[in-house]
Amino acid sequence: MAGMMTRKEFLQTLGVGCTALLGAASGYGFFGGGGRRQRDIRGHVFKGDAPARPWKWSIEGFRYTTNGKDVQCGICPNRCYLEPGDRSVCRSKVNIGGKLYSLTYGNPCSVHVDPIEKKPLMHFHPRTPVFSIATTGCNFRCLNCQNWEISQRKPEEVRHYELFPDDVVREARNRNCPSIAYTYSEAITYYEYMLDTAKRARKAGIRNVLVSNGYINEEPLVELCRYLDAANINLKSYDDRIYRCLNGGTLEPVLNTFKTLHREGVWFEMTTLVVPTYVDDREMMKRMCGWILAELGPDYPLHLLRFFPRYKLTRLPPTPVETLEDLRETAMAQGIRYVYVGNVPGNPACHTYCHHCGKLLVKRMGYRIPEIHIREGRCVYCGTPIPGRWG
Ligand code: SF4
Repeated sequence: MAGMMTRKEFLQTLGVGCTALLGAASGYGFFGGGGRRQRDIRGHVFKGDAPARPWKWSIEGFRYTTNGKDVQCGICPNRCYLEPGDRSVCRSKVNIGGKLYSLTYGNPCSVHVDPIEKKPLMHFHPRTPVFSIATTGCNFRCLNCQNWEISQRKPEEVRHYELFPDDVVREARNRNCPSIAYTYSEAITYYEYMLDTAKRARKAGIRNVLVSNGYINEEPLVELCRYLDAANINLKSYDDRIYRCLNGGTLEPVLNTFKTLHREGVWFEMTTLVVPTYVDDREMMKRMCGWILAELGPDYPLHLLRFFPRYKLTRLPPTPVETLEDLRETAMAQGIRYVYVGNVPGNPACHTYCHHCGKLLVKRMGYRIPEIHIREGRCVYCGTPIPGRWG
């Protein structure tokens, strides 16, 4: 198949990557908090871990190449190369008999109705509920994962519901949800299920929301964008070395995702979890905002979330609130118009203020919205258009 690497070429590429990484890692002071080194996880597939045959919730992968024996997934930059019987980095794809199968089609492990603000999306149809689903699996290995109980598990290990795409749309409608969110774990790893559901939702007049690490190749993302209404994408840091040691990925593909969403006209908001000693540097925040302004403009909101000790980063303290406030000021001084502080109940930076007149436009008390002063997408006080999708 055109574009498929041989296994040898793939391993050679990986070898170069690891050498470069070790060079970058030496002398770099970010490893102490997690207790062990972490790096780009491309190629770390699970050998011989596939089930013997496809099961009820299997579907052939939408984007892969094969030589009739080995397969290579084309959904995300990990580009897993699987020999027969292997399981992918994200744990949800396998090579059975020379075909790539997704094992998570129609069997989400999490199903909830959430407020849209929980995604978080502050400039997208506030006060509306969103039908939220997730399967197991993730293409990252974040030391601070908030959902590791499902993201770092195989589909066979977790209790599941059976909800095929038509069922998801029906359930969303039954619960009066105008949107469906692909969320919690990593939606990119259940791309086939998400795309088919999104197509049906669009047909039924229900919006689609992606909540993701943004680690996806451009072609599958462009196809998905045809059905997406909004996204919240993590910008986990603005440093490739931190992406490698904290998350097991790389920065560049995530930046490309933002550029693609911008180009394709999908509304999005950005989320940065401010992890102490990893992602709390003011100079990095300045560089990050400089890139956002140059490539995306000032209008997409940025959420700075407070970190709490989780998973493999239990030795780090929660982010000091002053650090979050300082970074917010830094980002706004750079020119980002809407910067929110999250995971700090009662903080005034959870509200929306008009970027022109400074008046309070959306008041939030947790996920309750007692006041909205936006009419037809404009500030009711000064008439300035407020970026977002207000309905
Ligand atoms: S989506 Fe999963 S199987 Fe496909 S390349 Fe990414 S990690 Fe590998």
